Amino acid sequence: MHELSIAQSIIELAEEKARERHALEIEELELEIGRLAGVELQTLDFALESAMKGTMLRNARIVRRYIEGKGRCSDCGTEFVTNELFAPCPSCGSWLIDIVKGKELRVKSIVIK
Ligand SMILES: [Zn+2]
Repeated sequence: MHELSIAQSIIELAEEKARERHALEIEELELEIGRLAGVELQTLDFALESAMKGTMLRNARIVRRYIEGKGRCSDCGTEFVTNELFAPCPSCGSWLIDIVKGKELRVKSIVIK
């Protein structure tokens, strides 16, 4: 399952950062999740919950910041909000779109004990 390996790498990264600072436990994990990141959000939540057991994140609160998708038209330069990877430009109808925002999925910060 794609989401499970994502969850595991998020946890590994958070634990690594916490260890660098000699923490015993992580209190809060803040994630940035782009709407176009290509993950099933409910599956990711479930995967995180089960992967956190027995780790430094066992009692952690997860804060999720969602990032709206944004595309830029290669033909006319219009920028627009989109929550689909494949959407035409609202201004000229072109399908030559670059996704400039919304694909990110990362650990923004952690709060340690
Ligand atoms: Zn356009």
